[in-house]
Amino acid sequence: MKYVSTRGGAEPQQFCDILLGGLAPDGGLYLPEEYPQVAERLAEWRTLSYAELAFEILSLYVDDISAADLKAICDKTYTAQTYRWSRNAGKAADIVPLTALTPEFHLLELSNGPTLAFKDMAMQLLGNLFEYVLDRRGETINILGATSGDTGSAAEYAMRGKHNVRVFMLSPKGRMSAFQRAQMYSLQDANIFNIAVRGMFDDAQDIVKAVSNDAEFKARYKIGAVNSINWARVMAQIVYYFKGYFEATRSNAEEVAFCVPSGNFGNICAGHIARMMGLPIARLVLATNENDVLDEFFRSGVYRPRATAETHVTSSPSMDISRASNFERFIFDLVGRDAAIVRQLWRKVDAGNSFSLADGPLAARLPDYGFVSGCSSHADRLATIRDVWQRYGLMIDTHTADGVKVAREHCVAGVPMIVLETAQAVKFAETIREALGRDPVRPAELEGLENLPQRVEVVDATVDQVKRIISREC
Ligand SMILES: *Cc1c(COP(=O)(O)O)cnc(C)c1O
Repeated sequence: MKYVSTRGGAEPQQFCDILLGGLAPDGGLYLPEEYPQVAERLAEWRTLSYAELAFEILSLYVDDISAADLKAICDKTYTAQTYRWSRNAGKAADIVPLTALTPEFHLLELSNGPTLAFKDMAMQLLGNLFEYVLDRRGETINILGATSGDTGSAAEYAMRGKHNVRVFMLSPKGRMSAFQRAQMYSLQDANIFNIAVRGMFDDAQDIVKAVSNDAEFKARYKIGAVNSINWARVMAQIVYYFKGYFEATRSNAEEVAFCVPSGNFGNICAGHIARMMGLPIARLVLATNENDVLDEFFRSGVYRPRATAETHVTSSPSMDISRASNFERFIFDLVGRDAAIVRQLWRKVDAGNSFSLADGPLAARLPDYGFVSGCSSHADRLATIRDVWQRYGLMIDTHTADGVKVAREHCVAGVPMIVLETAQAVKFAETIREALGRDPVRPAELEGLENLPQRVEVVDATVDQVKRIISREC
């Protein structure tokens, strides 16, 4: 399988060549040159374990790692030991257990990995793939990132202790929850460097951009990234759409709907690809919070990214985005993979403008892709968390609550609805207390996490301070 850029200006590449990079050289995103068609294989896949299913699906996209090695990587990644934080202890071996709230309304638990958010599903695989490819090539990489919470911790837990990889993770000092800080800063692995900058998330992000734009520094220190545009992350996420489908249905003639709490469009992009591969998905329901850029698009055909200053700070913070970095992948498919159209549309986006597909021929094509959408507010989240707790005795996090709220608006009789559970409630204790008047449930092993010794270096928000730490450690 070769990978092409959504902007059409890059040489087709193999999987391992795009694994460690970010954007294609022409500024586009990589996608496989075609989607393998698997409708015929569903019967054979229905009874596979998660690791076996991951191997079957990944094999279709990766042909420059031997089957035996890819199998070993899948087996090592998707273990009941790594994804052990299920509220449903008896089903932990499923990796992504499905819980039925009603016979046709389910939660798919994706947040049972080490950082209790769905990003572990892909990031743990990335950690093992990076180590494998770097070992084979005799190379090293220094991952530089900025986080406001979930991504940074998922990256650190995936890369800790890996050969030839260091992680330098910037976070805004004092801005994350005590739990999130403790999760990251309590890591004692020698290859993990937590850097708290005196400033906001955007300051940290700007420093990462400035360092990455310094070509000489970037090459000298082999600076890399693991952000959400990485193809391997999207690919890994395809697997649980299949697994969720098999759990929620009895036969491959049935259709289901998925509802996905969305920010950067990475998670639901994997659902779109699963559907393009032939998985019987009737609908992909996209849920946003008050940051409704994507809901607006699916309602009106207008994509209007917001300025960072216009982004609402909400109680489902991992969905607080003003532009959706993976959205270009979907538009590439929507426009019939015509890279010239994508280039033209993203000339507008990159200049800070919007585009509209409302009056053209593309608007007529949009319904073929199965998307519907809705948005949710802080009050909706509180009401939904309370309702699910009172009715079913289940505690859900704020992002999942956005999903449940929107999913309920799009249920169709006879089509099971599967809401992706993207994080556990314990990560967002403040809102849980506001909704339920009590503390969230916490896995026993994480009692006292906040009291562990922490390892973090605090610096002023300047590029030089961060470069100094990198050059000191490498
Ligand atoms: C990252 C994240 C999301 C958004 O996922 P995208 O792939 O960016 O759309 C939703 N919920 C949680 C808990 C997250 O960490």
